[in-house]
This record gives sequence, structure tokens and C-alpha cells, in this order.
Amino acid sequence: MTAGYTHDIDACVREIHKLAAAGADVVRVAVPEKKDTDALRHIIPQVRVPIVADVHFHFQRALEAVEAGVHKIRLNPGNINDREQVIEVIKACKARNLPIRVGVNEGSIIERRDKQKRMKELGAVFSDKKHGYMLAIMIAKLEEYLDIFYEQDFYDIVISAKSMDAALVVDAYTEISKRFDHPLHLGVTHAGPKETGCIRSVAALGALLCNGVGDTVRISYANDPIYEVEDGLELLWSLGLRERKGVDLIACPTCGRIQVDLFTLVQDVRKQLAAKVTVPMKVAVMGCIVNGPGEAEGADVAVFAGDRRGIIYVQGERVANVPEPEILDRLLAECLEFQGKVLRGEAKLGEKKVSITPPDPLGELGSGWEKVAAGMVEQTSGGSKPAKLTIGGR
Ligand code: SF4
Repeated sequence: MTAGYTHDIDACVREIHKLAAAGADVVRVAVPEKKDTDALRHIIPQVRVPIVADVHFHFQRALEAVEAGVHKIRLNPGNINDREQVIEVIKACKARNLPIRVGVNEGSIIERRDKQKRMKELGAVFSDKKHGYMLAIMIAKLEEYLDIFYEQDFYDIVISAKSMDAALVVDAYTEISKRFDHPLHLGVTHAGPKETGCIRSVAALGALLCNGVGDTVRISYANDPIYEVEDGLELLWSLGLRERKGVDLIACPTCGRIQVDLFTLVQDVRKQLAAKVTVPMKVAVMGCIVNGPGEAEGADVAVFAGDRRGIIYVQGERVANVPEPEILDRLLAECLEFQGKVLRGEAKLGEKKVSITPPDPLGELGSGWEKVAAGMVEQTSGGSKPAKLTIGGR
């Protein structure tokens, strides 16, 4: 969803282009005033993604947005609930084959006083659920609202049932998926800043998507919407629900074996590869060669760091052993060369697994003997060489 004013036409077009370039398939815009729906006439011809008008309180905005050429309307049953007005919007959308999303957000579906009354009436339905009362209200509100649509023989409906509570979101969409045969737009609303909103959103949406619930997603942050698109895509990629574009970067969390500045290296690799690599190759940046190979299994390009050095592998074949200051450039060069081979059909992604036998830890990379000696890691077997090291937190 755009964050700027829709009536600021040029800025809105720029923002939609930016979101689409980041990977958004659909962009929603707020239309609180007539000048916003008026602006849609100028915005829609300039953008290439479908535009959804987010309508609250004023059903006229929905009618104006339809006239302006919008591709979908979002209605809130909590604030557009006059039956005749809803029917007018349904008829306008039906005439143009436009879908309507009905969004029963927890915070707006019903006034608080009524909410408590309804909670008493309907709470028993979901009495075994933590959020039983609220679930009952959401379902009842949807049934009541959608009846108006069905009476008009209108079924091009998308449902959303957002809350800021991740557990309620999971329960609500799960129940709705059993009771209504319409596509579901998933989201955790008012999820907060990116740092915590990410966890809140991914916990709920991940659980639902893993169970086959959900057709579109929106991550929402109190931050630049670009992050919402990026993280939404990463969620779909991570679950294998969409083919990844660009690098699948894995990296170790580091531990007492680390002997390079891996955090900086990973961030540099991420930024550079995002700008230069378009094929979905798997790249692993691992802090050591002891556990790294297992964790980097399946990587097309991998670096295993050691004592201020890094050994680089491309599909299991060792191609370089470079000092720390050269790791970034060499890794990027190998990634780009590998990308070229993939694009020319000379190599296939994921064809060979990284398969490396951990070397003698006193060998060319070293692996933290100094730390063992300094008591930073615990040696669990005796002798002059560590057969096994145990490190807390693994
Ligand atoms: S064992 Fe090696 S690869 Fe694994 S977290 Fe520690 S440094 Fe990274």
C-alpha cells in the first residue's frame, strides 16, 4: 500500500512504480477525499500494476474510484454498512467486472459497545479459542455483510480479517477458510515497526500459508512500504510459494570459531549481489569450515572463512583461497561468472552440492585453536587435535 497522498499525482505514480519494481503485484491506495479519487484518473494510465482503492466511511469514494478505472475496491463493513449504499457499490463493480475485498479488521468492524453485546451472544461458538469472542464477531459480521452481496448475485469477493494479534489472525483466517469459498487476502494490521512487525506478520502469515490458507499477502510496517514488499516476497520465496528472483543468501550466525568479520561481509555480499545477480543462485557465507559445509549444503557458491582467510567453492569445486580483504571481491566475481554460465546454459542451478570434508583444524584455514586455548570454547575430547568441539547455543 502506498504511504503518500493519492492526490499528489506525480509522487503517487513514483511510489507505485517503486513498489512494482520491488515486486508488488498489486498496489492499494487510500482515497479518503474526492480529490484522491479524481487523481486516480491520472494515476492509473501511468502505472502497470492493478490498483485497489481503499475505501472507508464514504461509499461515494468507491463509486468514484470505479468510474476512475480502479481494478478493485476494498470495503470495510465496519464503516460502510448502509445496505443501500453497499448495493450501489456492488452494482457499480458488477457492471465493470471488478472484485470487492471485504476487510473485517478487528479494530473497526463494530463499535465497542455493540462488540461487547455481540461477544456475549456469540462467544460460545468459539469458546475453546483464546480469541473466541472476536472470532465470533468477525464471522457473524462477514455472514451478515456477504449476504448483501449474494442477494445481488455478486461473488467476485476477496475476504480479509486482519488484527494486530498474530494468533487471532491465524484463527480468524483458518475459520474463514472453512466457512467461505472466496480468496483470502492475508495480513497482520498495525503490526508496528519493521523490527517487531516482521516477526508478528511472518508468524501469522507463515502458519497460514504453510497450511494452504491465503491467496494474496500484505506485510504492514510503520516504515517505508518497500520493506513490506521485500519481506512479503522473502516470505513467499522462503516457503517455496513463488520462484525466487535473485540470490538466496544463507549465512551462519557465527560462534566462537569465527575469525573474520562475518557480519560486515554478509551485509556487503547481500547488497552487492542484490544489485548484480538476477538468477536464483544459492550463496553461502559461512564462518568456518568445521560446521559450515553441512549448513551450506546445496549452495551454488560458498565461502568458508577461517583465520582471516576464505576458501571459495563453486558447486563443490574449490576455486580460491584468499585473504580476508579479498573475500568480497572474489566471491562476487565467482558469483557473476557462475551467473554467466547459468545464463549461457553451461551450468545448472543446484546441480552439485557443496561436499567438503572438514580439514585438520590446524590446517590452512585454522579453526579457532587459539580460542580453545583461551577457554572461549570447550574441547570435549582430549589429544593434541580437537576431534570434537562443543560450543554453547548450537
Ligand atoms: S560453526 Fe562455523 S559455520 Fe557454524 S556458526 Fe560457528 S563459525 Fe559459523
